[in-house]
Amino acid sequence: MFNGEKLAAEIWAIASERLRGGKVHKNSYEQWFVNMVPLRLEGSCLIIGVADDFVMEWVDNSFGPDITESLQDIAGHDYSYRFEPGHVPESTPESPEDVVEEKAVEPVAAVPEMPAAEMIEEAPLRDVYPVNSNYTFENFVVGEENRYAYTAACRAAECPGLFNPLYIYGNTGIGKTHLLHAIVHQTRKTNPRLVVRYATCEEILNCFVESLKSHQYGSFRSQLRDVDMLLVDDIHVLGSKSQLQEQFFNAFNALYAENKQIVLTSDKRPSEIAGLEARLISRFEQGVTTEIYAPGLEVRIAILRGMQQDFTIQFSDEVLEFIASRIFSNVRRLRGALMQLFTRVLLEPDMPVTIERVESILHSVFEEEFSSQQITVDEIQKKVADYFNLHVSDLLSNKRPKSIAEPRMVAMYLARKLTDSSFPQIGSAFGRNHATIMNAWNKVPELCAKDEDLRRAVSMLERQLKS
Ligand code: ADP
Ligand code: MG
Repeated sequence: MFNGEKLAAEIWAIASERLRGGKVHKNSYEQWFVNMVPLRLEGSCLIIGVADDFVMEWVDNSFGPDITESLQDIAGHDYSYRFEPGHVPESTPESPEDVVEEKAVEPVAAVPEMPAAEMIEEAPLRDVYPVNSNYTFENFVVGEENRYAYTAACRAAECPGLFNPLYIYGNTGIGKTHLLHAIVHQTRKTNPRLVVRYATCEEILNCFVESLKSHQYGSFRSQLRDVDMLLVDDIHVLGSKSQLQEQFFNAFNALYAENKQIVLTSDKRPSEIAGLEARLISRFEQGVTTEIYAPGLEVRIAILRGMQQDFTIQFSDEVLEFIASRIFSNVRRLRGALMQLFTRVLLEPDMPVTIERVESILHSVFEEEFSSQQITVDEIQKKVADYFNLHVSDLLSNKRPKSIAEPRMVAMYLARKLTDSSFPQIGSAFGRNHATIMNAWNKVPELCAKDEDLRRAVSMLERQLKS
């Protein structure tokens, strides 16, 4: 039996994060999951401490299959779990659960010497929304692709209000949430008196709906506004929620007028969020807007190295490089792969860790990565041409009427956005040079900002191509 407390904590950190973001509603998560304690591994069974028999049965009945699925996704298909009642989590920083989500940000009311007006009670928008204790600036590996976003995030923590708002956007799994949580940690350290509120936009939406039901609307409003710093993750969720947009607009203006730092993340730039009012787009774009990209090979290797420091087995550079070269688009997937490899190797310690073995253990993760990359420039050209009732040949031609030139630029823009192809590669697929593609890349967002129909078309095409 391997008594891997650290590993148990790591596995649970990733599995529970998946549950929180996926099958388990945030409210249920806070009610039932945040107090669970990953205790140890017994073979491939994760032992999780819960408070008592009641919690054990309830969670087992309600979420059992989801927990198993999440564990198996990250650690391998033979994984299972068992609850052990009688465990109330400790809050000492050294405890193994320190690597799982921190249970709570300091509640606002606990901040000493805070004026009464800033002590917010009965918060439907929970200030106890968890931030992950591992998501710090120190744990963030910086490279060319994420340096600007990282630096801007550091500045937001050091000099709140300087870059206002800070808007970070990019694909999934590449560090946006990590940076937001890091700002929370850093601000708490350097400016402990500031009231910092972090929430996902979905959380805010849920609280808004609750507040409407319970008629505690004023309380909801004050919670978005009575803060010194507001960090909202996945702000694209605001799209098409007009009532919430109204609230957010007012809160934004109030905070902005007082130079309170606002930090937003999204999977799109503001002008690409479908159904986002123009006045919010312009507010979001009036500070610093920065795209974060998936990290390059060296950073991916460094992330794996950093991660395996906590493991009892150290893989060779060759193995780490191999994994990092096969998973390039999503750091969450990259970390999951290393964890999966680690747990497998622990179970069969006598077998050497050859590249062939790694390949076979991580086969399904590599497949997943591969299939996430499959959009091709050809496909984009066909789709865009169909959408605008044109032929692909029109897109490839030199015809200049707006009805053809705009769709052509859209296709170039989407090819750059949705594929790994470089500007010159896309250029050759369109029979143009790289400068033409760069021009389309810059021009399409500008056109979309002025033309709502075009913006809708681009978002819809993007969604269809990704699905
Ligand atoms: P996003 O919010 O962009 O979807 P996350 O911030 O949730 O992505 O990141 C996914 C995982 O990858 C997290 O475990 C995070 O700590 C890790 N990660 C992403 N980028 C880095 C980085 N540059 N250095 C270290 N860890 C990273
Ligand atoms: Mg995120």
